[in-house]
Amino acid sequence: MFTLRYRTQELALMHAFGISRWTRTHVKNVFVELEADGIVGLGEASPNARYQESHETAEAYLAKLNFSNIGRTHDVTVLLNYINSVQPGEYAAKAAVEMAFWDWLGKKLNVPIHRLWNAPTEIGPVSSFTIGIDSDEVIRKKVAEAESFPILKVKLGTDQDEQIIQTIRSLTNKTIWVDANEGWKTLDVAKARLDFLQDKNIGMIEQPMPAAQSLEIAELKKITPIPLIADEGFTGNETLEELAHCYTGINIKLMKIGSMHKAMQTISEARKLGLKIMIGCMIETALANTAAGILSMWADYADIDGFLLLKDRPYKGFDFDAQNRVSLNSLPGLGVVEKSV
Ligand code: MG
Repeated sequence: MFTLRYRTQELALMHAFGISRWTRTHVKNVFVELEADGIVGLGEASPNARYQESHETAEAYLAKLNFSNIGRTHDVTVLLNYINSVQPGEYAAKAAVEMAFWDWLGKKLNVPIHRLWNAPTEIGPVSSFTIGIDSDEVIRKKVAEAESFPILKVKLGTDQDEQIIQTIRSLTNKTIWVDANEGWKTLDVAKARLDFLQDKNIGMIEQPMPAAQSLEIAELKKITPIPLIADEGFTGNETLEELAHCYTGINIKLMKIGSMHKAMQTISEARKLGLKIMIGCMIETALANTAAGILSMWADYADIDGFLLLKDRPYKGFDFDAQNRVSLNSLPGLGVVEKSV
């Protein structure tokens, strides 16, 4: 039978990090260990207030789990049926438990998870580096620090959007992905921003308007050639057909969808509808980021830089190659090791 352990750890960020909803200097993530047969699988939850989750709610959920109900299984559907039956929601905590299960299973079978799943490649898409909302001076500094990254993801959704883009464009012409984080509240504002951005080498725009404003977002999709990606608008509980009317693609994050297994099923269903696939992350260590990195082998876009925003880096997982593409290793399980600090 599996034994579950968990603990919350506060992780310091390199710099205060701001998006349209908040600015923070620390995150509190919950780390999970699932042990059986002397093998320990590792998982991580980064609960997000946007989805009514916190480290407290995650821990309260984890405290309810009792694996004597399912024994020691190799079948992920048995695990998922059980952890979903205990309580709805708590996707970050569920993602952590399932991640730990895959890490355990891969270690038990002595195989990397991406090989167990027959990944089409071990080198995925180029990953972006995220520039949060900040002062002009700090944005300049961050752009300089991100020199080796070929794609910048820039947080907008403020009344300084044009200034932020002009500052970055005065320094570099590299591709920018914009993330408005629901910050453009009306169709007029969103159209004005699209107009401004149209000749600025913008590779995509994440969540231009609030997720609930799907009719307006569908209007935007009709008038812009820039791909529109659902992030807050896609949690895993929506109808993909409806999303395909509003967006070009979806940003799948483990902390929203709650399961690598469900993420894989969603990728295949979304592909049938012509949706592009982006794999994103919350502010996570290399542990959860490597689980996301595995999913990115099937994706068009990767934004897996959470661990780079952290000063505290307790794990080592996937690497970036010289072109900043997600590059998986050959270690069993997720391919993550604890760093001796
Ligand atoms: Mg986003």
